[in-house]
Amino acid sequence: MEIKQYELGDQVEMKKKHPCGSMQWEIIRMGADIKIKCLGCGHIVMLPRSKFNKQIKKVLTKESTVEK
Ligand SMILES: [Zn+2]
Repeated sequence: MEIKQYELGDQVEMKKKHPCGSMQWEIIRMGADIKIKCLGCGHIVMLPRSKFNKQIKKVLTKESTVEK
């Protein structure tokens, strides 16, 4: 299984759509738990890292534009 690379401040797309209609979230805290903020309505959700890894669909943007 592919491991997604993400960092603090990245915008990510989750598999599940938020009730406000947005699928895009920003990572605002990383630790054992990951805190993400909905870019549609500003709602904040905290998920255990394992659950976050399952629900993340893709990383949308990076703070840096370095291509690997
Ligand atoms: Zn929302």
